[in-house]
Amino acid sequence: MTEQPAGIETNYSNIVKDLPQKVQLVAVSKTYDAVTIERVYNLGHRVFGENKVQELVQKYNELPKDIHWHLIGHLQTNKVKYIAEFIDTIQSVDSRKILKEIDKQAEKYNRKIKVLLQVKIAEEDTKYGLEPFEAKEIFSEYLNGNYPNIEINGLMGMATFTDNEAQVRNEFALLKKLFDELYAQKPLSILSMGMSNDYKLAIECGATSVRIGSAIFGSRNPEN
Ligand SMILES: *Cc1c(COP(=O)(O)O)cnc(C)c1O
Repeated sequence: MTEQPAGIETNYSNIVKDLPQKVQLVAVSKTYDAVTIERVYNLGHRVFGENKVQELVQKYNELPKDIHWHLIGHLQTNKVKYIAEFIDTIQSVDSRKILKEIDKQAEKYNRKIKVLLQVKIAEEDTKYGLEPFEAKEIFSEYLNGNYPNIEINGLMGMATFTDNEAQVRNEFALLKKLFDELYAQKPLSILSMGMSNDYKLAIECGATSVRIGSAIFGSRNPEN
């Protein structure tokens, strides 16, 4: 068992207290062990996010089965099969290829898998995501009856990691604009944007779901 950081319960309560009621909180538990995650679970929280398949599967096995797991990291096609049976939402759909594989695996397990299209809004090259035009194309395909075993519930994006608030605001606004465009064709429930350092701004810009890790669990090793 790793040493337990103090303050997780307080961090969590303070964040939840200030979140508008209609905004969903995905508690990003990557790198934290099951015992630590259970502290937030014990406060009544049920939605957790992980970015790596292997770690997610391990925690799924260790933790209560009423957790709604969200995958928020880049997913490789050969790994979809490991999570298809239990994943609640895959937030990180960044190609048609991965969407097709999710659709195929969902069919195999006789269920619908909820997804978000991850759109590239940040300046950095390192971040995965669809270009806005690709997200629109995929959404049209979906509205035309493609991908019958998936449910596109909205969009996800990550802003540039910068102190420049105007830039972050512009990036969030871009995603919100795209969200509204798609919404006009078919109502969507989730606009997932905002992390520990920028979630308040994201909410101002229209986020309906935020992904918060370090502000709850404490800082991680910088590689994660
Ligand atoms: C790690 C991660 C988060 C949470 O980051 P924090 O800064 O710890 O809140 C949110 N979204 C994605 C995609 C992540 O990988």
